[in-house]
Amino acid sequence: MSKYISLELASRQLADRLLDEAEGYSLKKDKAEAGVRKKALSLLRKTGIRYREKTPPTVGANWTGTFAAIGGLEATDVLHELAHYQCSPPKWRRYPEFGLGMGPDVGLDQAMPGGNLRESDYGTDSPTEEEERASLLGIMWERHLGLESWAHTIEYHNWINLIPAWSGGDPVPQFVWLMRTGLLTTEGEPVLALRTKRKAPYREWGNKNETV
Ligand SMILES: [Zn+2]
Repeated sequence: MSKYISLELASRQLADRLLDEAEGYSLKKDKAEAGVRKKALSLLRKTGIRYREKTPPTVGANWTGTFAAIGGLEATDVLHELAHYQCSPPKWRRYPEFGLGMGPDVGLDQAMPGGNLRESDYGTDSPTEEEERASLLGIMWERHLGLESWAHTIEYHNWINLIPAWSGGDPVPQFVWLMRTGLLTTEGEPVLALRTKRKAPYREWGNKNETV
């Protein structure tokens, strides 16, 4: 791939590649699960993310604001927490669930113990955007580490419906954001780095002249 390809184009090509690769996947026991989970834990350690292996999530919170409670969680969920931590504005990391509130899978509409961010705190980073970025980055970690079931996760997280233009040739803004912040290469390889600033890396996508 050319070094001067735009991030918009790179995001589109990556999305198309993923769809091709994921086609025909049928859910089965992933033999790589245990090995990938171990690698995921090693990534948490390298990144300085604290976790407790024997503490299950409480009240639906995998991230307590201090450590990841990963007792009983599968590799996909551990990698999702890693991705959340990477994408999160630094200050949000001290909130349970990164201040995003309960996940949709919990089905509870209530404040997190320890506090939620107020809507005015979100600025350009809406909870939905944060969730989508973490979802895609986590999926790219799964794929990178050889977890075959990443193809299931991409469907489970509803990406095919979330991006109406999925097959229409349009850029994928979440990928553009991840590439721009340096958390994902234009080839789709995740980078073990952390977002360090509140706003700096984020701009509305659509600058067609931007190169990498
Ligand atoms: Zn999440």
